Amino acid sequence: MRAQDELKLTADVLVIGGGPAGAWAAWSAASQGAKVILADKGFLGSSGATAPGGTNLLYLPPDHKLRDEAVAQRMKEGGYLSEPDWIHRVLDQVYINLERVEAWGYPFRRDENGVPMRDHLQGPEYMKLMRSAVNRAGVRIMDQSPALELLADEHGVGGARGICRQKNKNWEVRAQSVVIATGGCAFLSKGLGCNVLTGEGLLMAAELGAELSGMEFSRQYAPSAAFGTVTRGRLLNWATYYDEDGNTLYSPGGPRPHDFLPTMLRKGPVYAMLNHADTEEKRRILRQSHAIFFVPYDRAGIDPFKERFPLTLRYEGTVRGTGGIRITGEDCATTVPGLYAAGDAATRERVTGAKSGGGAFNASWAICSGTWAGESAAKHALSTRSSADGRRLQGAGRAGMSHPSAAHGQGMDASGLIQSVQREVFPLDINYFRSEPVLQQSLERLNGLWPEVYAKVTGGSRERIKAREAAAMAATARWMYAAALTRRETRGMHTLLEYPDPNPDQQHRLTVRGIDHIQVYPEGRPPRQASRGTMDACRHYGGSRNRSSEAVGAAAWIAAAAGEVEGS
Ligand SMILES: Cc1cc2nc3c(=O)[nH]c(=O)nc-3n(C[C@H](O)[C@H](O)[C@H](O)COP(=O)(O)OP(=O)(O)OC[C@H]3O[C@@H](n4cnc5c(N)ncnc54)[C@H](O)[C@@H]3O)c2cc1C
Repeated sequence: MRAQDELKLTADVLVIGGGPAGAWAAWSAASQGAKVILADKGFLGSSGATAPGGTNLLYLPPDHKLRDEAVAQRMKEGGYLSEPDWIHRVLDQVYINLERVEAWGYPFRRDENGVPMRDHLQGPEYMKLMRSAVNRAGVRIMDQSPALELLADEHGVGGARGICRQKNKNWEVRAQSVVIATGGCAFLSKGLGCNVLTGEGLLMAAELGAELSGMEFSRQYAPSAAFGTVTRGRLLNWATYYDEDGNTLYSPGGPRPHDFLPTMLRKGPVYAMLNHADTEEKRRILRQSHAIFFVPYDRAGIDPFKERFPLTLRYEGTVRGTGGIRITGEDCATTVPGLYAAGDAATRERVTGAKSGGGAFNASWAICSGTWAGESAAKHALSTRSSADGRRLQGAGRAGMSHPSAAHGQGMDASGLIQSVQREVFPLDINYFRSEPVLQQSLERLNGLWPEVYAKVTGGSRERIKAREAAAMAATARWMYAAALTRRETRGMHTLLEYPDPNPDQQHRLTVRGIDHIQVYPEGRPPRQASRGTMDACRHYGGSRNRSSEAVGAAAWIAAAAGEVEGS
């Protein structure tokens, strides 16, 4: 692309991602008086995990007893990795923000006493409203504009670069603060709303040396019709399950065996029929209340109340896990100056612990962390009293970026790499029924694939975006499995066959860092400062350091990040 094909902009705060976390971050930063630009890969209002469905929220009135009980329950379910103060913070903030959402015009249902029931939001209406709020706050929204890499200098982050798909132009936004709100990584497993969630935010942050946390808590699969993408599975509570010969495997009412669906799908095809909705009235109510669930069935000409349909489990990666970029404090800052993280792109462990739990926590976290990250990003940018324009910023992207140091010769096969990564993360036998030797072999195969991300990227915008997505998925898979192998116990949503119980000695969060060479260690005990005892708890994964990553370090900050493997 020629220089005139580039869109160059300056702001105080750049928000990357336009789901709820990004929308709240942009609104919050703009409310502090900052000049804000938001770039989304899709369209703010319809892309991401929340937009196409409905979402439950942690909405509890400020009643001490009620909230203390909820906190105690969450601590237990989250494997005691969350923190009561953080859960209370979320309960407080989400309460305030949902009142705001109502004041902006969201039509919450009311109970028989006329009290609004603010514990559920319909994605399309909610995100439409958020788009209006963000627009009103004066934020410039760049739709269809995926970010590919961050900009940085010795002072930390200074903006990002990406591609405007519709105009086929590169964009560059210089900003003193950046909020990463790119959602989780669902590895293109065909879950509705998750097609844009491929992990670039994690990779961009890690390339600047940001740490990750909670990556082992990424074992969630969602049921879906085998021919559809809707993964909202609540209606399956009305289903009888069958094997291929029509024998009943499970019928509602009886005790449902542990790991029922994964275990059955391991043995062969599983079918379902919603025959427990046995009156016209019930069927009408279900159709009205969960309209989106029926779209794939109507398209396929199947009546799910009367016909059996094949089921599958779609892998949800870190989206309904709890891991992501590690935040260092209440302001949602990362270890990189000027860089903040929110929503599913950030670790949610301080609130959800080791398990995201039956809904409500992640969506509430997106609202709160977005609000906090936006506010802090604005304060950081406005306190510097200078523009990012004068900084000597460099692109920090490496993997999947055709960096000048990228290997020449055969171009990168992004589709092939994506399929190879999917072969490691989708199978229930590897990722759901986790065992040490199987995960170890899978991680070794993923490490073997890793050098492919440094091949030259040929083609236009489409290919460049795909290459970066492929690299981000490969990186995320390696972080997940490196962390999973380090957590030698079963806690929350992470299991290891060889260690079926929680181990009190491992009741800590695991920090992950590095790109070519990955280190995993207990939070707060980085390897270089670790005592002899804790060094044993630090594990190293990955082969030799890749030359292309070493070659990048012109800017001091980037060089520091590239020094990730020193001493390992
Ligand atoms: C089936 C399903 C049901 C769920 N139900 C619930 C529930 O009931 N309760 C609950 O608490 N949580 C629920 N969740 C989780 C909840 O949807 C998420 O926690 C929430 O959407 C997170 O918001 P977010 O803004 O971080 O990410 P998302 O909503 O996923 O948005 C991420 C945004 O980032 C953009 N993006 C990605 N990469 C880039 C890039 N490189 N450049 C620019 N933009 C980028 C995407 O286009 C997208 O708009 C559910 C999730 C799923 C999949």
